[in-house]
Amino acid sequence: MDYTSLWKAALGEIELTVSKAHFNTWFKNTSIETIEDNEVRICVPNGFTKEWLENKFNVIILRALNNLKANVYRVHCRVGKNLIQPKNPLPQTSYRINLDAAKTPNTTTHTETQNVHGTQNTQNTQAHHVPVRKKVSSYTFSSSNLNPKYSFSSFIVGSSNELAHSAAKAVSEKPGESYNPLFIYGGVGLGKTHLLQSIGNALLRKDPTKKVVYTTSEKFTHELLASLQNRKISEFKVYYQSIDLLIIDDVQFLSGKEKTQHEFFNIFNALYNVNKQIVISSDRPPKSIATLHDRLRSRFEGGMIADINKPDFETRIAILSAKSHQNSYFLSEDIIRYIAEHVTMNIRELEGALNRVIAVSKLGREELTFENAQKILGELIDANKKKGTTAQDIIGVVCDYYNTTLDELTKKGRKKEIVHPRQLAMYLLRSELVLSYTKIGREFGGRDHTTALHAYEKITKEVNNPKSRIKDEVDILKERIYSSI
Ligand code: ADP
Ligand code: MG
Repeated sequence: MDYTSLWKAALGEIELTVSKAHFNTWFKNTSIETIEDNEVRICVPNGFTKEWLENKFNVIILRALNNLKANVYRVHCRVGKNLIQPKNPLPQTSYRINLDAAKTPNTTTHTETQNVHGTQNTQNTQAHHVPVRKKVSSYTFSSSNLNPKYSFSSFIVGSSNELAHSAAKAVSEKPGESYNPLFIYGGVGLGKTHLLQSIGNALLRKDPTKKVVYTTSEKFTHELLASLQNRKISEFKVYYQSIDLLIIDDVQFLSGKEKTQHEFFNIFNALYNVNKQIVISSDRPPKSIATLHDRLRSRFEGGMIADINKPDFETRIAILSAKSHQNSYFLSEDIIRYIAEHVTMNIRELEGALNRVIAVSKLGREELTFENAQKILGELIDANKKKGTTAQDIIGVVCDYYNTTLDELTKKGRKKEIVHPRQLAMYLLRSELVLSYTKIGREFGGRDHTTALHAYEKITKEVNNPKSRIKDEVDILKERIYSSI
């Protein structure tokens, strides 16, 4: 298969795995230049795309290519200025595919004509002017994006989230005065988005003239890139610098994105200097966000940092009672206790379990008995999610979390930043999939089974040590493994 067909086929698969917005932003106008020594070299239109494809989408790209038997371990991107489609493509450039041209002529083909500074290559101004203008005129930045379902009144407070909750309330009452920025971190499904959105909703209720924007770091990056491509960067900056309350969810995705961090830093400073409130969330504390620029890290650390932990038993009971009440469905105490005892990971799962019991019992005629509830939840509980998980899933999650690549984990080397994720990945392959040590060693570049055994024993010891932070890491990784299925 030649590179054009190979990349086309891989893109077909990638398109099914990533969201439409991601696909359009990051994969259009890319092409394979070469594959050599198990490394695929992809030509991309700008530095943003390079960062995203190399750091965030590398696993997906490798998976898609390897499914097509390409045998690649590394993704390397080169920012190419030669991506412009000539009006009549010459045969030697025909391997560069243009998805736009193939699928939606006349829409966003302008992206390939610009570099990261938004300057346009004069060669093809004529051909692409119309779509550029069209896009620019319809282009808008994030509006408030608030969902009214998230409010402080529907947020149950327990010991696991009380600090974050009271800081969030204080910020919504006196934005820019009490804690700036407010940085909330915790694992998936523990209520970060709920709290962040509640701050925005509460402030707007108090003063509807305030300009509140909720966005995610991924969306922020998309917008930044789009505004560069549309030569709207100054509007972008003016817009973001005029906000009263800026809420950015999941900033861990800024990790490794130098250029986005740079723009974000400038916006952050501009807002901070005029006492505008900034609220940020992440799945981990600032110091654990790899490749976060020091100046941004110290900005984050300069405000209030509040964590959210897993809900304790009492809080789980309170959440279940409140939520069944909201659904006008009254569950007996023993059923509520049963769910609270068995679903412990996070609140999203707790809601899922409750909704399932309610939905199934509403279908039946008889009253819901404890035994019925037990049966309904049976499939959900008891490590049910383990089925379907593959070694690739686990390694992918670990690479993503530690911002590394499959190649780094498998090649020889004992750098601390690599040894730790490698050992965790080995541990998880054993604990979650019960793979043999020999097989695990093979997954990591043909290492000896004793290396895998050593990794498993070392991490097991850490996990059982209450003072060690490794258990938290393992929990976060497990949550990600199972929530990504
Ligand atoms: P995160 O952003 O941390 O992944 P979310 O804010 O999306 O988590 O929360 C997951 C679900 O759990 C949401 O439906 C949210 O409303 C609910 N939830 C989380 N924490 C609480 C809480 N303390 N009280 C009530 N509902 C909660
Ligand atoms: Mg969230």
